[in-house]
Amino acid sequence: MSSLMHTMRFFILPIFITFLSLGLLQHFQSHWIDWQDTLHYAPYWLLAASSLICLQFNRSRLFYIGLLLLVFYTLQNNRLFLSPIIHQFLPLFGTLVICMFCFIKDRGVLSVHSFFRIGGIIVCGVIAYLWVYLTMLYPQAIEQFQQTFGLNAQSSPLYLLPIYPLAIVLFCKLSWNSNLAQTSLGICLLLWLCYFLVPTNLPLSILFCCIAVSFLVTVLFDSYFLAYRDELTGLPSRRALFNLSLALGRKYTVAMVDIDHFKSFNDTYGHDVGDDVLKLVAVKLSKVTGGGKTFRYGGEEFTIVFPRKDIDQVYSHLDDVRQSIEDYDIVLRDESRKTSSKKNRSKTPVKKKTVNVTVSIGCAEHKPDQSFEQSMKLADKALYRAKDRGRNQVRF
Ligand code: GH3
Ligand code: MG
Ligand code: MG
Repeated sequence: MSSLMHTMRFFILPIFITFLSLGLLQHFQSHWIDWQDTLHYAPYWLLAASSLICLQFNRSRLFYIGLLLLVFYTLQNNRLFLSPIIHQFLPLFGTLVICMFCFIKDRGVLSVHSFFRIGGIIVCGVIAYLWVYLTMLYPQAIEQFQQTFGLNAQSSPLYLLPIYPLAIVLFCKLSWNSNLAQTSLGICLLLWLCYFLVPTNLPLSILFCCIAVSFLVTVLFDSYFLAYRDELTGLPSRRALFNLSLALGRKYTVAMVDIDHFKSFNDTYGHDVGDDVLKLVAVKLSKVTGGGKTFRYGGEEFTIVFPRKDIDQVYSHLDDVRQSIEDYDIVLRDESRKTSSKKNRSKTPVKKKTVNVTVSIGCAEHKPDQSFEQSMKLADKALYRAKDRGRNQVRF
């Protein structure tokens, strides 16, 4: 369920927003048509800005694609792409480059990996050129091929054929493993193919502005997530906690949560299982009721802030969340099944080993003339009392 939500948020929603914006732009064309001359220059600025920002943030894939689009836009506007072979070559070349970038990682723009990326772009160019050249060289063979497979030469010329399977593979990959950078590559491919294959009233400048904006939004969102989200649990990080503390009023309660005996848990089951348990505990804590906001403070410690609440109002909510963690049976992965062969695996019965973890919670109410840090220290002291008195409890 959560992976479906993830795909919705990071793949389907951005694509929907992009096409909704384009639809609205097309519908309200009369409102911006007078600005067309200004819009004509916008992709230069936006693509240059997005490439520079991607360079700064080491987003090599978006950097190279932004740069290629900038070169294409300049050449297209200067009418340097008049030969028909170029117009047959470009859709496939663009698809191949975007596919290649979807299957590789960002590894820094100014690094030795750049040679491989530039080499990859050249190889994509050679493949696309050879394909288009061959389809032109052997028209009879193509006719025969199209007749054999019942293809219509007008609607699906052979030089376009590799694009369809490539696009399908790419969108399966994007929906399976979605993140904003991958999605902006998908948006780029869709708009690129729209320009070449689907007749639209929207000028190239609008399509390229859209691509540049999706690149910029991706880099900005990713930097926000890097700064304010904890990578392992997905919870807001300590930095986000201190940001929130500046916006809190006079009345609030802070709770410090610590997993009990987590070191020995790690020693018994391994660090990877420990990481999985941290994620599960984070999910449980993020569902705390009573308006609490959960943060990963660091290590196996979490902080929950209840704005506008005193201790009496939050105690039961904290105890409920503590109880929900205690009651949760964590099913451990069976490592022996993982290493055994497929044949043996189907024979061995599935052994489900479950474990439980508990948390101790200390909380403190903010008092007038106290700083946020002082309230946190008091919550920390209460947490120590909870540990001293046997763990798995809430103290204030
Ligand atoms: P106590 O009940 O007193 O809190 O005992 P404890 O063992 O939980 O406390 P201690 O502070 O000695 O150990 C914390 C452990 O948390 C040490 C470290 O191995 C583990 N830990 C911290 N961060 C992570 C993490 O990101 N992943 C994993 N797997 N373990 C972590
Ligand atoms: Mg600790
Ligand atoms: Mg602990």
